[in-house]
Amino acid sequence: MVTLETKIEDLNRVGETTAQRLSKLNIKTAQDLLFHFPFRYDDFSKVSDIKNLIPNTQATIRGKIELINSRRSPQKRRFLTECVVSDKTGTIKVIWFNQPYLTKVLNVGELVYLSGKVGFDKYEQQMINPVYEKANKKETIHTARLVPIYPTTQNLSQKQIRFLISSVINLAEALSEWLPDQVVEKYHLLSLGQAISKIHFPTTYNDAQKALDRLKFDELLLFIIQVLLSRQDIEHSTAESIEFNKNITKEFVSSLPFELTNDQKMTSWEILRDLEKETPMNRLLEGEVGSGKTVVAAMAISNALASGKQVAFMAPTEILTQQHFETLNWLLEKQNIEIALLTRTTIKTTNRAKLSKSKLIELIKNNEIKLIVGTHSLIQADVKFNNLGLVIVDEQHRFGVEQRKSIKEKSGNKNTSPHFLSMTATPIPRTLALSLYGDLQLSIIKEMPKERKKVITEVVTPNKREESYKFIKEKVNEGRQAFVVCPLIDPSDKLGVKAVAEEFEILKEEIFPNLSVGLLHGKLKTDQKKEIMNDFLANKINILVTTTVVEVGVNIPNAAIMMIEGAERFGLAQLHQLRGRVGRSTHQSYCLLFSDSNTQKTIDRLQALVESSDGFELAEKDLEFRGPGQLYGKEQSGYIQSLKLASLFDYEIIKVARKQAQEFLEQSPDLKKFPKILERIIEQKQETHPE
Ligand code: ADP
Ligand code: MG
Repeated sequence: MVTLETKIEDLNRVGETTAQRLSKLNIKTAQDLLFHFPFRYDDFSKVSDIKNLIPNTQATIRGKIELINSRRSPQKRRFLTECVVSDKTGTIKVIWFNQPYLTKVLNVGELVYLSGKVGFDKYEQQMINPVYEKANKKETIHTARLVPIYPTTQNLSQKQIRFLISSVINLAEALSEWLPDQVVEKYHLLSLGQAISKIHFPTTYNDAQKALDRLKFDELLLFIIQVLLSRQDIEHSTAESIEFNKNITKEFVSSLPFELTNDQKMTSWEILRDLEKETPMNRLLEGEVGSGKTVVAAMAISNALASGKQVAFMAPTEILTQQHFETLNWLLEKQNIEIALLTRTTIKTTNRAKLSKSKLIELIKNNEIKLIVGTHSLIQADVKFNNLGLVIVDEQHRFGVEQRKSIKEKSGNKNTSPHFLSMTATPIPRTLALSLYGDLQLSIIKEMPKERKKVITEVVTPNKREESYKFIKEKVNEGRQAFVVCPLIDPSDKLGVKAVAEEFEILKEEIFPNLSVGLLHGKLKTDQKKEIMNDFLANKINILVTTTVVEVGVNIPNAAIMMIEGAERFGLAQLHQLRGRVGRSTHQSYCLLFSDSNTQKTIDRLQALVESSDGFELAEKDLEFRGPGQLYGKEQSGYIQSLKLASLFDYEIIKVARKQAQEFLEQSPDLKKFPKILERIIEQKQETHPE
């Protein structure tokens, strides 16, 4: 018997290869299938008469197979299956390419549903490669309905995923409801089981919406409960005060090659005042890309070090930690301290090139090294601090509440908690941040450094490509550098790497044969990545072809051109992040958005970037441009790790979820009264713990 726990390889029609492909999507059990949500629906719910079909529209028909044949096409390259289908109003020709088995599956005389685009060939209408489904079942899953479209991976078809989910959808009822009945009633929510079945196979958009509301509520509620729990933790602890050191601070500021902006001064002051308190600081520093958050952080670090405390600085990627390591070394030069870098692959300090991991861990434990920059490796079990006073987390949304807790436990101070500063380039409005994070302290940098010029953004249609290449050549000849970002078609597979590698060849061999072109992508070894970034920083590479690995934080002041291929594939917020990689110095910078799509909608969407340089506004615009069947998009992944369906823009649900989270914790501060909720929280902690 199939249950929620049944392993996918034990399901009908799942062999070893399919199981492997599914596991790439994190699907290992029947339950995982139920929680693999569609990201949109194709609306094939209306069944049309053949006579009324309109060319170039999507449609579904229901008809009888009159004729079906397969043959090789004249060019011998492809296999052609031709079919004639009729209903009581007319007949239509149907063609499938490279699916020779169809003549075995579909037989003359059978009734089928066909969903797809209606085309027109010389004189007659036809459908090419429509999705087919026999009409002998009670309920269809692939056609003649709102058809769910799922995130997938190479060689796993929508039909396969849909079939598998439909084969276990009855188990949705067996999912145990984790919310108390009163809560489900109070907010008129669907039960969990109903929501899960309807998110996959809704009858109407309204059904889908209700399912979505329930599942978003769950995600946000869990997130906020976790935030509140960690808050309880912080409220109950004390911190060691870090005294404001006037001399060190003055010296730091005067050593900078630039004048601090007013917002930088103000936010630094807020942070320094917090550090003096004997309650742990829990502050979020928000500032658009390029607004200069690192300097503000460095000022806090400088004071913490001067008072004898250790400082941990964490960032989400190796490239970023490398860069912070160098930047801090430069910013804190006057203070003359040894800085360590600790990641999975790199162990070093500013004074020692060769160093074993165990030696570094010992130095940290003995308080001989005070400033440690690192990735997640910093919260691994064997790292222990001696007197950790301040923790800084860059791009905080990538770190869970849990990870913060665990670094606190390693601080070396039994009775106190270190001060926390998180930094993010996502400019979440204050009211929203308060609903999500409660009484978290917020410091916002709105102002950009003075001489900074606005990045000139342009949407480049295919006919203007040559012109743009010429422009890039000119700029490179003036001494500037350029990024060329290519979209990952499928990040889980080699396909994406192939796309950048091909683009790299073309640019290097054909377009810019006289320039130095480099290639950077996520599948390279860490050492290679570092070498390439260093070469780029040293201007040994003029043009860097890359994937979105450069998305966050990378700082190459001399890079003045950001050219993005297939821009229509990215979310606006993500494009904005990428654009933030240029315009980091006094050079006028440019962002060129290349698109292969000429549709007005694409151009309008990209045009939003030309008009706005406000990251939050752009993220919100992403939602406006979504079609009616769109549930969620790539653009929002990343903000908060645990949110799959919900986004920061679900204002109403956030408000309600917050209220409910508070109520739960008021009734039972340790959640013991709500064991099922506690269970979910624990489950989620395990999921967000990558190591
Ligand atoms: P982000 O907020 O994106 O993390 P960074 O801290 O990386 O920004 O700063 C971006 C660049 O701007 C760095 O090269 C930094 O040295 C420079 N910078 C920071 N503050 C100022 C300022 N007040 N005036 C001029 N340049 C500045
Ligand atoms: Mg930064």
